[in-house]
Amino acid sequence: IREIAIAGAGMAGLHAAESLREAGFEGRVTMIGDEGHRPYSRPPLSKEFLTGKGAPASVELRDDAAFEALDLDLRLGRRAQRLRPAERAIELDDGSAVAADGVVVATGARARRPDTALDGVHVLRSVEDAEAVHEAFKTEERVVVVGAGFIGAEVASSARSAGLEVTLLEAAPTPLTRVIDPRVGGVFTELHRDNGVDLRLGVGVTGFEGRGRVERVRLSDGDTLDASLVVAGLGALPNTEWLEGSGVGLAEGTGGVLCDEYCRTAVPGVYAAGDIAAWPHPRYGGLMRLEHWTNAGEQADTAVRNLLAGDGAGTPYTPVPYFWSDQYGMKIQLLGQAAPADTAEIVHGSAEDRKFVAFLGRDGMLVGVLGLRSTPKVMRYRRLLSERTTWEGALAEVNPRS
Ligand code: FAD
Repeated sequence: IREIAIAGAGMAGLHAAESLREAGFEGRVTMIGDEGHRPYSRPPLSKEFLTGKGAPASVELRDDAAFEALDLDLRLGRRAQRLRPAERAIELDDGSAVAADGVVVATGARARRPDTALDGVHVLRSVEDAEAVHEAFKTEERVVVVGAGFIGAEVASSARSAGLEVTLLEAAPTPLTRVIDPRVGGVFTELHRDNGVDLRLGVGVTGFEGRGRVERVRLSDGDTLDASLVVAGLGALPNTEWLEGSGVGLAEGTGGVLCDEYCRTAVPGVYAAGDIAAWPHPRYGGLMRLEHWTNAGEQADTAVRNLLAGDGAGTPYTPVPYFWSDQYGMKIQLLGQAAPADTAEIVHGSAEDRKFVAFLGRDGMLVGVLGLRSTPKVMRYRRLLSERTTWEGALAEVNPRS
């Protein structure tokens, strides 16, 4: 392999480039990114970036010297338009082509947008999105946040600390229902309410009204809210459109690019990593696609090592998934996987104290560890997840005094 193209200049793309050079790859590495920026950090965008009164916190991941040392052919502000495996090339939106005998697909995901073109309705994915919300926080007194998933919940928290009144709308019966048992999710209901958020559960949005700019939000319960600022956290859609017709398969259900356990797509020499990649994780069954910061880096490292090793060699990608969120000054951490139907049992602390570690179980196995304000304890149980531990076996490892 002499030329490798990385499509997508996010966390996965950056790690792919770094891993290539660390592995001693000396050929040309082209990185194509449709944002006009080098890879930057998204997690702060819904957190400290929004709360600062002055200039927003920096989201830079690496300095100039680090990028220089990587010796990349950086194509920023350019979109990968089409993957042409037969010609071993990626076609860009300016009509040019990038030659590549190896490709890392790292085009991530984009925010799902609400169905309106009105001004004042925002999503949060890019630094520009965050700048617009940060500006609006300085002048608006109220915000309606749609969706109490992680992004919506963090925006609500940041808006409160910036002094805004917040209405948080969630169609499900508790916040974070897509990922967490509703009994544990109840803690987060109280967390929002105690911090002065008007949290409305079981309520969807049926439309936005206004002339040019949003003025009102119509709700499924018949109510109408006055609103000149709305932030929607409605989940993300993988950026797979440019791969149409390339032979790279897409995953049913989870969406994203279908990979095997080596991060290989259906097209030889084309690997995928980060928010866009779906793959069979042997410990969890079915396909997994993670929208987690740590995963983007780790999966890109594995994808690149396997790309360089070639078919028949390489390492399966079997991480212990890790995710964190910061809300109202509290850190929430999830190791492993969580689904609403999982059994949940608090093994340290208590929901009342808002400081706990909960085990999540499925089919007699430990599948996840969820913590609130309990960082060292959560991390101690990582081994149980990497070793595949039964529910009973996991409970036997708990030392209540530790
Ligand atoms: P991305 O970051 O989406 O990068 C992909 C890049 O490719 C983007 O720049 C995209 O514009 C570009 N691209 C797309 N299509 C093309 C194309 N055709 N051609 C060229 N370029 C293209 N995770 C956590 O674990 N904890 C958190 O607290 C947390 N907070 C978050 C807060 C926010 C506001 C957001 C948006 C995400 C957060 N995440 C968090 C998730 C985390 O940021 C993502 O998992 C991570 O960014 C994924 O990296 P990626 O490189 O796979 O994709």
